This record gives sequence, C-alpha cells and structure tokens, in this order.
Amino acid sequence: HGAVTFEDVSFSYDSRQPALRNISFTIPKGATVALVGPSGGGKSTILRLLFRFYDVQSGRILVDGQDIRSVTQLSLRRNIGVVPQDTVLFNDTILYNIRYGDVHATDAMVYKAAKAAQIHDRVLGFPDGYDTRVGERGLRLSGGEKQRVAIARTILKNPPIILLDEATSALDTTTERQIQYALAEMTQDRTTLVVAHRLSTIVNADLILCIQDGQVVEMGTHEELIRIA
Ligand code: ADP
Ligand code: ADP
Repeated sequence: HGAVTFEDVSFSYDSRQPALRNISFTIPKGATVALVGPSGGGKSTILRLLFRFYDVQSGRILVDGQDIRSVTQLSLRRNIGVVPQDTVLFNDTILYNIRYGDVHATDAMVYKAAKAAQIHDRVLGFPDGYDTRVGERGLRLSGGEKQRVAIARTILKNPPIILLDEATSALDTTTERQIQYALAEMTQDRTTLVVAHRLSTIVNADLILCIQDGQVVEMGTHEELIRIA
C-alpha cells in the first residue's frame, strides 16, 4: 500500500506561469521523500494535488497504480493523512479534535485507542500529563501542542500515506525534537512526502526530490546527490 506516481503532471493556479510543469516521479511504497527547493518552487502544490485539494490539469497521479480521480474522496482521505503546517483546531476538547470527522467514535473509544497506540504519552506527551489534559480545549494549546494533536489524529487514522508540511515556525528546540520523534515513529513503514526544511529530515529521507520552477531538477538519495554535487 502506498506507492505514489506522478505522470507528466502540470498545474497552474491562474493564467500566469504554471506552478508545476510536466512533473514525473515515482515513490515506492513505504519510502520517505523530502521535497526540497526554493520557496515558490511547487512543493506544497504537489501535496495539494495528491490530496485532491486541487485536480491536475494534465497528466495523472496514481496511488497503487490507480488514478486518484477514479477513487472516492472518502477512500482517498482514508489512505492519505495530512499534517498541515498550521493546525487549526476546534474550540473543543483534545479528544474531540483527535476524533474529528469520525462521527461514530465516542471520547472513551478515542481515549482507549490513543492509549493502545501509545499516543497518550509519546506523542501528546504534555509535561503535566495527558490524562489531565484530554479535556482541554484546542484554542488554549500552544503551536507545538496543536501540532502534536494533529499528529495524534493522523496516527490514529493510520493511513498508508502521510503528507506533511514541516513547520519552519519558531518552536523551541525541545518541542521540535519531541515532534520529530513523534513524526519519525509515525512515518515508519508509511509512504511519506514531507516538505522539508530541517537538515535532519532531509538527511534521513530515503529519497530527496529537488523542486524548482515547477520541475524536478534533481532526485536521488542524499549520497547520490552529494556525489553529483
Ligand atoms: P513551495 O511550496 O515550493 O513554496 P508552492 O507550491 O506553494 O511552492 O507554489 C508554487 C507556485 O504557485 C508559486 O509561484 C506560488 O506563488 C504559486 N501559488 C501557490 N499557491 C497559490 C495559490 N493559492 N494561488 C495562486 N498561486 C499560488
Ligand atoms: P466523511 O466524508 O464521511 O465526512 P471524511 O472524509 O471527513 O468523512 O473523513 C474520512 C476519514 O478521515 C475519517 O476517518 C476521519 O476521521 C478522517 N478525517 C477527516 N478529516 C480529518 C482531518 N482534518 N484530519 C485528520 N483526519 C481527518
């Protein structure tokens, strides 16, 4: 589960220059891919097309050999988890925010699942205890805490493919490291596309895709790219 192929994909937001021009690449299932390159190059657009926030204007995107336009939105969302750069939470409890969208789950079910997945301390890991904070409201959380809730939500959903836009925002280094551990755990054995800013993320990726002016200008493992340079 989770192989991703872009076949000759182009996309323009408006009549000005295209954001992606005839991009082709294949990501084997389970691989972690770091999308790197200058701002405005097209990295986020790749994630948006894969999640069908927008549809390709030419070319195709395949997940496990199937054109994503032939798959229902529901099935696509079950297969692809997104951890956004800036998580917006509901002004409701952490549990509510974690189970958001799953109308059949109760707080008790979500709590139990979070414990079983060891999300309660390893991911959420609030210093003063998960148990005392699951009832806390989303709006009261800090940026780093919100991001952990978003990660917890995605882990519980257990999708084979994960998309994440790595925040460059000023998280303190301890929080940042904790979030990185949580992400590393989450992305194990899952196909992951990450818009990468941190060197550690780039170096640890199985594959690096350099995106510039809407094109793939380089692709390879970091050893391969160093050799080329
Ligand atoms: P990156 O993630 O590499 O910074 P993006 O994919 O966000 O790049 O942007 C690619 C190009 O598309 C840029 O020229 C950017 O200005 C443009 N773009 C991105 N989002 C939008 C949008 N919502 N509307 C119009 N143009 C956009
Ligand atoms: P529906 O179309 O029935 O409303 P959704 O497409 O919203 O269902 O949700 C499909 C799956 O994705 C559910 O398991 C839900 O929990 C999960 N989900 C929905 N929205 C989000 C989100 N923003 N972040 C993480 N998971 C979500």
